[in-house]
Parts: sequence; C-alpha cells; structure tokens
Amino acid sequence: MAQRGPEAPLARLGLKRDWDFLLHLPLRWVDETRLVPIGQLRPDEEQQAEGVVVACEVAVRGRRQLLARIVDGSGELLLRFFHFYPSTRQQLAVGRRVRVFGAVRGGLMGLEMVHPRVRPVREGEPLPQRLTPVYPTTAGVSQAMLRARIERALRGVEITETVPAELLQGRGLPPLREAILALHHPPPHADVGHLAQRQGPPWARVKFEELLAQQISLRTARARRAEHRAPRLAAGGRLAARLLGALPFTLTAAQQRVWREIAADLARVVPMQRLIQGDVGSGKTVVAALAAAQAIGTGYQAALMAPTELLAEQHFGRIAHWLRPLGVEVAWLAGKLPSGAKRAAREAVAAGRAQLVVGTHALIQERVQFAKLGLAIVDEQHRFGVAQRLRLRAQPAAGDTPHLLMLSATPIPRTLAMSYYADLDVSGIDELPPGRQPVVTKLVAAARRDEVLATVRAEAARGAQVYWVCPLVEDGEDESTAELTAATRMYEQTRRLLPQLRLGLLHGQLPAAEKAAVMQAFARGGIDVLVATTVIEVGVDVPRATLMVVEHAQRLGLAQLHQLRGRVGRGAGKSYCVLLYDEPLSEAARERLRILYETTDGFEIARRDLQLRGPGEFLGARQSGVPMLRFADLEQDAELLELARDVALRMLAEHPAQASAHVQRWLGERADYLVA
Ligand code: ADP
Ligand code: MG
Repeated sequence: MAQRGPEAPLARLGLKRDWDFLLHLPLRWVDETRLVPIGQLRPDEEQQAEGVVVACEVAVRGRRQLLARIVDGSGELLLRFFHFYPSTRQQLAVGRRVRVFGAVRGGLMGLEMVHPRVRPVREGEPLPQRLTPVYPTTAGVSQAMLRARIERALRGVEITETVPAELLQGRGLPPLREAILALHHPPPHADVGHLAQRQGPPWARVKFEELLAQQISLRTARARRAEHRAPRLAAGGRLAARLLGALPFTLTAAQQRVWREIAADLARVVPMQRLIQGDVGSGKTVVAALAAAQAIGTGYQAALMAPTELLAEQHFGRIAHWLRPLGVEVAWLAGKLPSGAKRAAREAVAAGRAQLVVGTHALIQERVQFAKLGLAIVDEQHRFGVAQRLRLRAQPAAGDTPHLLMLSATPIPRTLAMSYYADLDVSGIDELPPGRQPVVTKLVAAARRDEVLATVRAEAARGAQVYWVCPLVEDGEDESTAELTAATRMYEQTRRLLPQLRLGLLHGQLPAAEKAAVMQAFARGGIDVLVATTVIEVGVDVPRATLMVVEHAQRLGLAQLHQLRGRVGRGAGKSYCVLLYDEPLSEAARERLRILYETTDGFEIARRDLQLRGPGEFLGARQSGVPMLRFADLEQDAELLELARDVALRMLAEHPAQASAHVQRWLGERADYLVA
C-alpha cells in the first residue's frame, strides 16, 4: 500500500528512525536570536524585525500581490508577497504584532522584505536562545515539519556514546551529545560561516562517528569474507613457472614481489580479494596471466573480464599466445559473438574443457556456468561497479568461493584505500619495465594543428606510429554518434592532409572482426596513424606507438587523459603526447591540462583528481552497497579517518557489541549491504 502523509517523502530523504533525524544535520543556520530595530535594518542581509501591522492590502502592480506595512517606532518596513494564502492575510491584519525574518532590500518605497517568514507574537515574547537550523529537504517536506520531527527526536532519544571514552581521550573531540546539540542549535555567538563549512569541534566529532561506522562495517565485511572457503591453488606452481620461463622478458622486481604476494594468497583457503595497482604500462597483465596459470595448473578454471571488447580481445590474443603452447585451452566470450559461437563457448566453460575464459561483461551476463572456477580476474576494475566485480566471483565453484584478483591503473589515493577500499589487499607495481622513458606532454591550441600535422609527418617518416584520438563526450560507455562523426571526419581530413601515410580508423561501432583486424594491422606496423575514438583509452598495448594526439583534450577528465597518454611510452622509444585544446579554456580545464603537463605520476594525478572531483571516479560506476560519506571529506579529514580506523580496530577487538551498535545507529537497514 502506498504510504500517505509526510512519511513517504521523509523516507525518500532516508529518514525513518529517530537516529536518522538526529543525524540529519543542518546545511546552514539563521540568527533569530536578535531583533533589529526597523530603522537600523541593513539592505542585503537576512535579519529579523518586529512591529505592528499598520496596513495590509492586496494590490495589482503588474502582478497581484499582498502588501503590508509594519512599524516599530524606529521606522516602517514593507512586506511583499507574490504568493499568499488567506491565512497570510489574517496573520497580517492591521493591529497585529508580528516577527518577520528575511532578506532586506532597498525598494522604491524604502526598505522591504519579499516573502519574509512571519510569526504573530505577543509584546515582549522571548527570543530563541539558539540559532535556527535550516535543513536539507525535498519536495513535500517543509522546514517546519522537519524541525518539529527533529525536535521530537532530540527530546526523545538519549544520545549515548558508543565509543568507549578511553579510546578518544586527548583527541580534543567533544562528547557526542554536545556535538549533535551544538549542530542543531548552535549558540548565538557561533560562527555560522565556519559551521556551514563543516569546520570546528562539533563537526569533527560527527565526522569521526561517520567514518568510524564506515570503518567498522568494512572490516566486518572483510571478516565475513574470511569465513568463506576458497580452493587452495598451490599445486599449480609448475605451470606458472613454465610460463615465466617462456616469456620474452624477465619480470621487474616489482612484478616479482606482487606475483609472490598473489601466489601466497592463492595457496590459502581464504578467498583472495586483491587489487594490483600499477601505473599504465607497468605490466599488470603478465602477473594476472601467472595467477591464471597457477589456478589452471591446480586443476581449476580462471576467468578474465575486461571492460571493453577491444581490450578483452587483446588480452585474449596475448594470453592465448602465452598459454596455448603450454597446453592450456583458452576460450573467448563477448556479447557480440554469433549465438552459436557463444553457446559453444558457454558449453566449453560449463564442461570444464575451457580452462581460461577471456571476455567482456558477457562473462557475467550470459548465464555462464563454470565447472570449477578457482580465480576471477577483473581488469581495469574501476570501470566496473562493485556488484559487477563480485558477481563474477559469485559463480558456484564446487561450493567454494573463487579467489578474486583486480587490476587497475587508476591509483587509489591513500585515504580511499583506507576507506572504501579497506576491504581490499593492495599490491603495487611501482616500477616500469626497463628502458622506458617518461612521455613528454605538449599542450597545443587547436589553432596550431598544422604544426601537429607536421610533427606527425616527421614522426611517421622515422617509422614511429601515431594514435589520433577524437573524443566528443567525456563519458558514456556507448559512443555517441557525434563522436563517431568526429572520428570519421577526422579520418577523412587527415587522409587528405597526410596522403603519403597509411591511416586506420577505429571506433566502437565497427564489427568486432573489423575492429580486431584494424588493431592487429596497427600492432604489426601496417598502419602509421590510427584515428580512433576513446575506445582505445584503456589497456591497448602497442609498444611501437610513440605519439599520441588527443583532440579537444579540455573535454576529458584527468584520469582519462592519463590513460590515453599511457598508450604511448610502452617501448624503448621516446614518446610524446600532444593535447590539442580549444579556446577559451575554463578554469577547471586549464587546471587539468596543467596537471598533466606537470606530472606523469599516476599517483599524483589521482590525488589531484580526487581534490578536483571527489571520490566518484575511483569508486567505479555504480558502487552499490558502499555507503557514501555525507559529512566527512576524505581529503580534508584524513586525520579523522586515521583515528577512526584505529578506533574501529580496537572496538572490534575489545568492544564488539558497541561496534555493531555504532554501525546500526549510522546505517540502520543499510548495514547489511556491505556484507552481501
Ligand atoms: P598495464 O600494466 O598497463 O596493463 P601491460 O600489462 O599491458 O601494462 O604491459 C605493458 C607492456 O609491457 C606489454 O607490452 C608487456 O608485454 C610489456 N612488459 C610487461 N612486463 C615487462 C617486463 N618485465 N619487461 C619488459 N616488458 C614488459
Ligand atoms: Mg592493462
């Protein structure tokens, strides 16, 4: 049955229990503790005045409006209403005494307030002792209603501490009750500007509580995971060693260290949940392939999922090239396969004939049943939502939970690693294969595109290969037709301007086979300039390509530009990235381009990106289940986050009942999400 009354819109705001109301904190505060004599009202400020109504009439001056005048002995104030009810007129009947609150402005007829808040009062009625809160709200919920409901919660709930006092001693945080009351009803002298910025001890206390709830729930989820059993994938070391021996290069020290960490995880019965984090070009794929080999060598299956068909195809090609000679059966599964081929792949996986299956989202969408999945690998994990990542692992594997390995070039800043990703073990490949030189970045205004064409000509003449990327939209997994047109147009134009060069065109809407053919031709060196949409953004690896040109670079985000730039500088040759931008540049775009120009360090770029955009990019598209922070800010409140982490550990160890009461208080029903 549909809910009636104010409950439904309140529930939409997430407000059900008393604690939800207590933790629904004001956006700002207004000062109704003072009365300003009408003669001393200042224009352009919100103020409160009191007076007796001397006139009230409905007038039509362009628009129908209610005009009332009040006086207090020091002056006269006009009140103007364009929308009003009969009750408004009653409140403003001549002779009534009213308190009005609103922004004052200077009008033709002296000072006035438009749509002030009006309250009838008796003479000498006491003023509030505290500032008045203004709460975030939604259609169907008035401030007055919210205030009343929150007042009721404040009166009805005993605000107890869940955190044992000794854990917070000497931290300068006020008691919780004091903090919550101070935020709902700050004293008149409080600095409301400061408060609205969420600064000061009461906010620090509440933010700490929020971070603590997050830390406890993430750690609880991690502990629950440890209760699942995973297959022990230890015996497969031989196959992994053979793969290692067959590689045309030796692992870097960082790759070796990460591989050891993963091999050790796989040999345990606790399901691994590990992220390999390494900047673009650091060589994550081969480490994932080694992990797959270890699973397969032990008699289990492995699955590798990539966010784009192009990347999945490339992985399939490369990994099959490595593993097939060792006798491993590798299958390919993508959404665009003909249904017969798809069915055959599914059957091979279900029967256990396919030992490794590489593919796209199809792996989780096409009802794939694994005979014996031991390891799920997700490349470019930030491109997937949490639910999608976990679904690949949710495949039944003889009653066991498969191990999960994720790869990402988008570094997780430390604060995020400690918060949203606290449930993850992270291995960093912090070293590039030998001989790589940092990519040189150039910022060029679009007006100077001729110079870029000259550079392309010169580079190609030396045998270098070039990517020419034409993005139009910043995100969107599906390319817009506009983007396609842009790439096609660019292709035609460039072909005319560079008639002596071999050009290729690549976009997401090409049939899979054609896409693969173009990519292979480029990888073989049969194409000099590959004009492409942002489909090549992630993962694509052609070491001979040394020049990347990005059109309309100002439209792309930092992470995306860093990824695109990472397509070059993958071999021993000196590489360049030219970011073509259109003028005028917005302040934000200028800042992004400057950051890219200044650094090639993925960590630094991620940190700056977090500052500019907040955590969304890092968390992936749909972080279902992970509660977002409402009050705390990971960058600004890093210290509180650290404290929350330490306190969470101690509470879980020494005061588990209080730890779960704390999470319950903050998350209520949502507390279960995390464990799913
Ligand atoms: P990413 O970490 O961006 O996914 P890749 O796994 O695609 O990087 O590797 C980038 C390139 O470096 C590939 O051509 C790969 O074969 C090569 N590579 C990986 N490890 C090494 C190594 N230790 N020495 C030399 N080349 C390597
Ligand atoms: Mg990669």
